[in-house]
Amino acid sequence: MPCRIIEISTPAQIAEFAAWSAGRFAPDEAREAKVEDVVRGIIRAVRERGDTALVEYTRSFDCDSFDLSMLRVPDESIQSAMAAVPDKDLEILAEAAENVRDFHQRQVQQSWMTTREDGTVLGQLVRPVDRVGLYVPGGTGGQTPLISSLIMNAVPAQVAGVSEIAVVTPPRKDGTINPHILATAGMLGISEIYAAGSAWAITALALGTEIVHPVDVIAGPGNLYVTTAKRLLMGKVGIDMLAGPSEITVLADDSANPSWLAADMLSQAEHDTLAAAILVTASRDLAEHIKDELERQVKSLPRHDIAAAALKDWGSIVLVPNLDVGLGLVNAIAPEHLELAVADAWSLLGKVRHAGAVFLGNHCPEAVGDYFAGPNHVLPTTRTARFASALSVETFCKKTSLVATSCAYVSDNAAKIARLARLEGLEAHARSAEIRTNR
Ligand code: NAD
Repeated sequence: MPCRIIEISTPAQIAEFAAWSAGRFAPDEAREAKVEDVVRGIIRAVRERGDTALVEYTRSFDCDSFDLSMLRVPDESIQSAMAAVPDKDLEILAEAAENVRDFHQRQVQQSWMTTREDGTVLGQLVRPVDRVGLYVPGGTGGQTPLISSLIMNAVPAQVAGVSEIAVVTPPRKDGTINPHILATAGMLGISEIYAAGSAWAITALALGTEIVHPVDVIAGPGNLYVTTAKRLLMGKVGIDMLAGPSEITVLADDSANPSWLAADMLSQAEHDTLAAAILVTASRDLAEHIKDELERQVKSLPRHDIAAAALKDWGSIVLVPNLDVGLGLVNAIAPEHLELAVADAWSLLGKVRHAGAVFLGNHCPEAVGDYFAGPNHVLPTTRTARFASALSVETFCKKTSLVATSCAYVSDNAAKIARLARLEGLEAHARSAEIRTNR
C-alpha cells in the first residue's frame, strides 16, 4: 500500500493534518538540535580554518581525493562541458532560461521619486546587491543534479542587475561537477564556480575564505544541513528563504485523469524521502483510482525506493465532503505547489489564499513550472507560503529611501520634530532640527 487514504471534514482535523505535514522539515526536535550542533561545528571550522576546512569536509563527505586545487572550477572545465553536452540539450536549456528571463523581467521594480508642493522630494532607490552566491544541490550523491535550480537562481539575479555571481555545488565522487551544470553556467555567462556543498559551502559564501570571497545574498535550495547553515548565518548575509523538502497538493474532482495525477504526485515523491504528495478530493472513486495508479506507476520509476518511502511516510489521499472543505485544507497546508485539477479551475482560484505556485487545469502538470514555463521553482515549503513568496528578482535587490528637504521645510517643522525627539528623551535629535532654524 504506497499511499494511505484518510477522511477529513472538521476544522480540527484540517489543522492537525496541516501541522503534521509541515513537520517534515524537522521531524523531531532532537534531530533538529543534532543537525544544528553539526552545522555550528562546520561554521566554526570554516571560520577558523577557511579553505583547509572546505577541503577536509569535501574529502570526508563527497570525494576522498579532493585537494585545494580542485575547489575553483577552471574555465577550461566549463568550456569542455559546453562542448561535451549535446547541442540539443543546450538549446532546450537556453529556451528554458529565456522563458524564465521573460517572466522575471516583469518583476523588475523601478526606483521612484515624488515631489510635494513644498518642494520636498521623497523617493525610493531600487538597487541590486553587489555579489550573490548560488547553491546548486548535488542531488542525492550526484544522481539528480538540479540543473534547473541554477537557471531558477541565476536568471533572477541577472535580471536584477547583480554584477558578480558565484556558484557552489558539491563535487561528485571523482571531484568533478556534472557537465550539464557547468554547461548551463557557461550558457548563462557564469564562470565563478566552486566544487563545495553542504553547510561548509554556505559558510564560505557567507563569511569568505581566502579563495571564496564573501557574498551579500545566498540563494538556492538544499538539504537540511544547507538550510540550517543559511538559518544560522542569516543576518551576516541575506538569504532567499529556508526551503524545505518539496511538496505538492492536488485538489481534484471527477474531471481529473487518475493516471495523470498519480504521475504528478510521483514527480514530487521522487525528490526525497521527506517530500510530500497530497491529493485532496471529494470523489471516493477518484481516490481509489489514484491509489491504484500510484501503486502501478511507482514500481517502474528509477527512484522507486525514494518515491515509495515518501508516499508511505508523507503521502496522503484525503477524502473531503466537498471542494469547499478541500479548499480549507489546501489553505491550511499552504502548499509549495498546488494543482487545481478540476473542471473549472479558474472559478476556485479566488478562494486560494496560500500557495507557492498554482497550476490550473488538467493540462498543467507541476513539471511545466519546475522546468520551463517561466515562473520560479524555488518556492516556500512546509506552510511558509502563508507569509513567503517564490524566489524572485526582489530577492537580489534592496531599497534605499530618498529624502531631500529644503531650509524652509526644516524651519517650518523643527518644533514638531524636536517635540517628538524629546518625547523619546533624545535631546541631540531635537537640537539637530532646531539648530537649522537659528540661521
Ligand atoms: P544538497 O547539495 O543539498 O546536499 C548534498 C550535500 O550535503 C553534499 O555535499 C553532502 O556531502 C552533504 N551531506 C550529506 N550528509 C551530510 C551530513 N551528515 N552532514 C553534513 N553534510 C552532509 O543536495 P540534495 O541531497 O540533493 O538535497 C537537495 C534538497 O533540496 C532536497 O531536500 C530537495 O527536496 C530540496 N529542493 C527544494 C526545492 C525548493 O524549492 N523548496 C527545490 C529543489 C530542491
